[in-house]
Amino acid sequence: MVPWGGAGTSLTGAVSCDGCILIDMRGMNKILEVNTVDWYVRVQPGVILDDLNRELNKYGFFFPPDPASHYMCTVGGIIATDAGGMRAVKYGTVKDWVLALKVVLPSGDVIKVGEPLRKNRAGYDLVHLFVGSEGTLGIITEAWLRIMPLPRKRLRAFIAYLSDMESLAKFVYEVRSRGGVIPELMEYMDYYSVRL
Ligand SMILES: Cc1cc2nc3c(=O)[nH]c(=O)nc-3n(C[C@H](O)[C@H](O)[C@H](O)COP(=O)(O)OP(=O)(O)OC[C@H]3O[C@@H](n4cnc5c(N)ncnc54)[C@H](O)[C@@H]3O)c2cc1C
Repeated sequence: MVPWGGAGTSLTGAVSCDGCILIDMRGMNKILEVNTVDWYVRVQPGVILDDLNRELNKYGFFFPPDPASHYMCTVGGIIATDAGGMRAVKYGTVKDWVLALKVVLPSGDVIKVGEPLRKNRAGYDLVHLFVGSEGTLGIITEAWLRIMPLPRKRLRAFIAYLSDMESLAKFVYEVRSRGGVIPELMEYMDYYSVRL
């Protein structure tokens, strides 16, 4: 049995299924709770990432990990693949934002691992065993995710043209260590990509 996030955007063939049963998770697409006191959201796995952020934005919050497939990938899919995007430079990947999970095991048992409390650390860290496990250990049916207030910022973007990879590495290092700012996102393109 292979859970299908709903979009099947995994680029690794993770949802390819030869003679197995695909479980379509799209119907489980409810946002169950937005907790602006303890800063978490409780959500079903079929919710599309952009829909989640649209809802959170109404409360002045957001969920930072931003895979480029944000307009179609699902919460279950991003947890199961530990997805990350350009904002990872500041906020990390999905693993840094999962507090607790409800999972249906291959035996049929339903378990809850973790707690929606940041300081909770009792026992084995089973939450992160499931994050990135690509559906091999069980099917995620509910998730408690950390959220953040929307940053109050004036957007500034800039482009730097650098001659080689070494200068690029130095540039990133300097910006992060001496610039006094933590960029929200960074992306580079090499000469050939720009020409294309
Ligand atoms: C245009 C495009 C841009 C992309 N950009 C990025 C990027 O910037 N960063 C990045 O990390 N990835 C990126 N990806 C890859 C992909 O979007 C991510 O891996 C995404 O997390 C997959 O989400 P999905 O909902 O489509 O999951 P699916 O592809 O449906 O499933 C992915 C895996 O998760 C498992 N799974 C799905 N739902 C559950 C569940 N409820 N319980 C347990 N397992 C489950 C599936 O079995 C499968 O193994 C991109 C893909 C595309 C097409």
